[in-house]
Amino acid sequence: MLPPNPGAGGRSVVGERPNAGDRPNAGDRPNAGDRPDAGERPNAGDRPDAGERLNAGERPNADDCRHAAHRPNVGVLALQGDFEAHARILRGLHAEPREVRIPADLTGLDALVLPGGESTVMSLGIEREGLGDPLRELAAAGTPVLGTCAGLIMLDRDHLGVLDVRAQRNAFGRQLRSFEADLDIAGVPGGPLHAVFIRAPWVAEVGQGVEVLAAVDEHPVAVRERTVIAVSFHPELTGEPRLHALLLGLIDAPASVRGADV
Ligand code: GLN
Repeated sequence: MLPPNPGAGGRSVVGERPNAGDRPNAGDRPNAGDRPDAGERPNAGDRPDAGERLNAGERPNADDCRHAAHRPNVGVLALQGDFEAHARILRGLHAEPREVRIPADLTGLDALVLPGGESTVMSLGIEREGLGDPLRELAAAGTPVLGTCAGLIMLDRDHLGVLDVRAQRNAFGRQLRSFEADLDIAGVPGGPLHAVFIRAPWVAEVGQGVEVLAAVDEHPVAVRERTVIAVSFHPELTGEPRLHALLLGLIDAPASVRGADV
């Protein structure tokens, strides 16, 4: 169960937005039905998503369909937040992103991304759509999950309870503590990863079985428990694909990684 969110009714999404100069965020629109079609379209040149409506002229040809059969289906929670940027990275890694708004969107997923955004709004959306139990079941079944920033918060003990951690919201202070850092992340090859922190949480308590992959000032900002990875920052804003690649690499993880309860 998601706990009640005091103050959620009065909190505006805009109020939690990062600096005014930051990129506009399609996901901040509260009503899915209000979204212009353009927001659902991939960028010119990108391959259309299986989960998105295609115009006749955009339908993939037979070759594309054969290729698509080998592409993992990766859900991106699209209630709120910067889900489009995650979808672009996933396409670049030859996965098929699918926007997730209702429980039926979770069917057949190979992996899932919970994007950044505003955790109070996201909690309300998850509750409203009845996504809490289906999301927990998906993770418990060993389906790899990547949570970024507010997505990390959603996974913690006080929210979905998927990760045995407690996240502290806005832990680095408010807007002034939005910052960038180059982080070495355990299990991510290729040198330090450029991480953008925007009103980021850190992990204040870590349970047994949770591996800390990176820390800032000794506060964990990247953790993994079984097939669930969570980071405090926004890899998608810099087009950094390595965490998404790590997620995709967990899809065929052995039972020992997925956990004994599956
Ligand atoms: N500060 C936001 C929250 O607590 C998270 C910010 C983000 O996802 N960039 O929900």
